[in-house]
Amino acid sequence: MKCQYCKGNCIKKGCYKRRQLYQCKNCKKYQRTTYVKPKIQETKKNQIKLYHNEGLGISSISRILTISKSSVQRKLTELAKQQPKPVIQETQQSL
Ligand SMILES: [Zn+2]
Repeated sequence: MKCQYCKGNCIKKGCYKRRQLYQCKNCKKYQRTTYVKPKIQETKKNQIKLYHNEGLGISSISRILTISKSSVQRKLTELAKQQPKPVIQETQQSL
């Protein structure tokens, strides 16, 4: 099996929920051949962003989009990491 991240060779390394797990010999990442749960779609990602900006909490977003709370939290952390840090300039300071 080829690694989906770096195309390196993978070795069998344990099981998770009765499915074979593979570990890449190059980048040491774990992966499976088939994934049961579908990925969260782009439209839902945008909706998370929208609802979050509207002031909804994580629980309400997860109820509306019918995805788990942890997924919402994970996506929000991802979105937060994409944002550039604000540059704070110190001006007009006096002692
Ligand atoms: Zn790899």
